Amino acid sequence: MVDIQNLSYDELQEYLVNNSFKPYNASQIFDWLYKKNSTDFNSMSNLSKSLREFLIGNFVISNMKIMKKSKSNDGTVKILWELSDGQTVESVALFHPNHITFCISTQVGCALGCEFCATGRNGFVRDLSAAEIINQVIFLENAIKGSVKNIVYMGMGEPFLNYDNVIKSINTLNHPKGKNIGIRNFTISTSGIIPGIDRLSNEEKIPRLSVSLHSVDNKKRSYLMPINSKYSLDDLITSLEKFQKKTKDRITFEYILIKNFNCSIEDAHQISKKLKNIKKMMNLIPVNPVDKRFKRPSEDEISIFMKELEALGVTAVLRNEKGTDIDAACGQLRRRISES
Ligand code: SAH
Ligand code: SF4
Repeated sequence: MVDIQNLSYDELQEYLVNNSFKPYNASQIFDWLYKKNSTDFNSMSNLSKSLREFLIGNFVISNMKIMKKSKSNDGTVKILWELSDGQTVESVALFHPNHITFCISTQVGCALGCEFCATGRNGFVRDLSAAEIINQVIFLENAIKGSVKNIVYMGMGEPFLNYDNVIKSINTLNHPKGKNIGIRNFTISTSGIIPGIDRLSNEEKIPRLSVSLHSVDNKKRSYLMPINSKYSLDDLITSLEKFQKKTKDRITFEYILIKNFNCSIEDAHQISKKLKNIKKMMNLIPVNPVDKRFKRPSEDEISIFMKELEALGVTAVLRNEKGTDIDAACGQLRRRISES
């Protein structure tokens, strides 16, 4: 049976028309699926009985079971979902004064094995389907009884290694007949998969891009992120410069702060030099220590590093550490569950 959320609007419409239904039925179904967040064909009360029966006979809406829900002191909600094959992924809802952001996963596990990352340590299991990516948004909205504004593809997995399903999910969530979330309200976070960055620059609608940088020293970056041996720092920077020439959009860099490793005054100068041709914002995140090798710098060390960046004209913000008391850093909840 086909998961209905794996079909784009056009694919659904074509399928319906080929089976003697009307083109506008696609719009009604999108309304139920993505505006009303319906997870059951029987509840789609304005569809004819024959259409409902047709949908039930040909499609499923896959279920996401809440395996664990945690709420942090600052209100951040994190859910570990059980998928239909028993695999698990997590999503996080972050509450800001006037809007809600979701952080969602793109793969079960990740093949890239970054040294500091809990997801990477558990290896790769499988890609999520477009439907499973979209459904994290639907089920999370239903769970928190709220509407999302921004969606960041920054949970478990490497989005550009599941490119087609990620783009399909964005196009569906962006579709005017569905949730109609603005394209610039989506952010894809990548470890630096160059072919993915190049492909994205050719999409009709381009979401925001965030790149996990963590070091501007090629050797150090390869130590932290093995993928850097394949797509080296200099090639990555060249590809980002090209991307920005086309999109004109500011690029965000994620930069975890590791004591005695990547946040000295010298590092600040290297960052400024290496990224001088890119319009950017740096998100500084004190490392979440999943491994004894990586410690957080002290507040003083962070503040000296940030002042130096500022003096060099590099915009950097210390990321508000929402949800640290519930292990909201990617992959950690799943790891704990699978270990226990
Ligand atoms: N694979 C993509 C997106 C998922 S990882 C990527 O790497 O960008 C999402 C973010 O969480 C990345 O910026 C990653 O570097 C960060 N991250 C992973 N483990 C972390 C940890 N232990 N502490 C802080 N940030 C971490
Ligand atoms: Fe994969 Fe991103 Fe974790 Fe690296 S940081 S292992 S790319 S999920």
